[in-house]
Amino acid sequence: MATYTYRCGLDGPMDVVRPIGTAPATVPCPACGAQASRVITAPMLGFADPSRLAVIDRAEASRTDPPVVSSVPTRSGRAARRPRPDPRTSLLPRP
Ligand SMILES: [Zn+2]
Repeated sequence: MATYTYRCGLDGPMDVVRPIGTAPATVPCPACGAQASRVITAPMLGFADPSRLAVIDRAEASRTDPPVVSSVPTRSGRAARRPRPDPRTSLLPRP
């Protein structure tokens, strides 16, 4: 089974669970009955890197719940939110 995302013009996004490969282009909205069109999203695989999933979750949350700030973030605040670099990159040759 896979989770597919659809968007209703009135009620917004919704998830529909169906067998893989059987997702139609539109489904009826459970709230209003209008046709909701399919939205192509990044696959949420269970074996993906947790830090990468956190970045995807933050990016998706920024669409609907952008963080509200009252001042410019400090440099340390920016560094704290930056994802850690892949340790394998330290093995690459430097210019
Ligand atoms: Zn609807």
